[in-house]
Amino acid sequence: MVYDKNNIFAKILRGEIPCNKIFENDHVLSFYDINPQKKIHALVIPKGEYIDLDDFNKKASEQEFIELYKAVSHVSKLLGVSDKGYRMLSNIGSDGGQEVPHLHFHIFAGEKVGKMVS
Ligand code: AMP
Repeated sequence: MVYDKNNIFAKILRGEIPCNKIFENDHVLSFYDINPQKKIHALVIPKGEYIDLDDFNKKASEQEFIELYKAVSHVSKLLGVSDKGYRMLSNIGSDGGQEVPHLHFHIFAGEKVGKMVS
């Protein structure tokens, strides 16, 4: 599968459409989900062009790995949810329920997140 440069997160990364930003550095962008499924629903995405976690694991540099995973914890602290906890989730492919073909981690928090899978 080829990375679709016109996916919505690619447009956010290029600044073509706005986002409600939480955190950004050279490798990662985090912003609030436009359609929150829990009291707090944030997204963490790499700036590189990766379709999903499998694609990322194949192609990303060590630095990109470190920055993406560190950013999840950093964002949880910025959101004030690291003590009470949160759920990080990444949908992969059609059976996984992935809608946007740019790797993203969801962070759900601010209340009991509930059953792992419904
Ligand atoms: P997934 O189903 O894992 O691909 O999740 C895609 C997520 O992106 C959904 O939770 C959407 O609500 C969210 N989303 C789609 N467009 C935007 C946008 N423009 N800004 C923020 N979140 C978005």
